[in-house]
Amino acid sequence: MELETNVREGTVVTFAGGSLCEEATVTFATPRDGGWLVLVDRSPFHPESLSWPDQPGDHGTLTFPGGEPHAIVDCLTGLVDPDRGILLTDAEAIAASRSGASLQAVVLHVVRSEVDMGNVVGQRARLDVATDRRADLSLQHTGVHVAALTLNRCADRFWTKDKPERDGLGFANLDKAAVTRSSIDTERSVDTYRIGKSLRKKGFDREAFLSALPDVEDAMNSHLRGTWLGASTPARVSPPEGRLDGRRIWSTTLDGIEISIPCGGTHIDDLSRIAEISVELEPIEDGFMLTTRTRGR
Ligand SMILES: [Zn+2]
Repeated sequence: MELETNVREGTVVTFAGGSLCEEATVTFATPRDGGWLVLVDRSPFHPESLSWPDQPGDHGTLTFPGGEPHAIVDCLTGLVDPDRGILLTDAEAIAASRSGASLQAVVLHVVRSEVDMGNVVGQRARLDVATDRRADLSLQHTGVHVAALTLNRCADRFWTKDKPERDGLGFANLDKAAVTRSSIDTERSVDTYRIGKSLRKKGFDREAFLSALPDVEDAMNSHLRGTWLGASTPARVSPPEGRLDGRRIWSTTLDGIEISIPCGGTHIDDLSRIAEISVELEPIEDGFMLTTRTRGR
């Protein structure tokens, strides 16, 4: 959709620092699917990304002073074109995000409410994120990073030439070179990897890797059982707050080495909160799929 708006700036978001509640000013509201699409100047909600929609949007509530909470049932990313005064959502936002145009990213709170919100712009409101769902998604998202580093480690021997870019631990970064899609829910994540011509040209032995897939899976699970989880290992995202389209980095320390991975999601603050990570690998037509299940303590 393309909607006229007076909003000119991107939303300030605080999810990276783990925030679950913010007081904010409503900047825009428009009817949508029997409810409302609401924008605020500052939000703790993590919206689904346009360019890499791995982690789904937060759920929660929007409450005006003295009123009942309204359910926020989804959270998406929109783009504001400040020069034209236009808000882009859905397919139009995805298309614009690929165009390279200079636009401001905003959090779209999808509110389910029969209350008329035609006159709420300028009002203060409180936004609360549903804590259990956020905690589950943060746990699974953190597990994805640990699993990706473990995949790189256990697949390192299948690179025959000079290795391409390495990860923070010094292993060839198969995850970064081959991942095409990632999908996180509250119980697991599924990552899809493509091993195409370019990867083979870079020296990745596709046939040997795919025929050893069960061994790689065993090696990954064995590594994930043996190390990294247990002792206190703080992890953080920085900066903890900023404009939605700002760059954010997830970092932790593994094997005594500081690891940094660009990431726009939410995470747990210490790896010791993870009791177990288990992975499954299976071949697909042009590569393989990695399923990661992370269990908390
Ligand atoms: Zn992340």
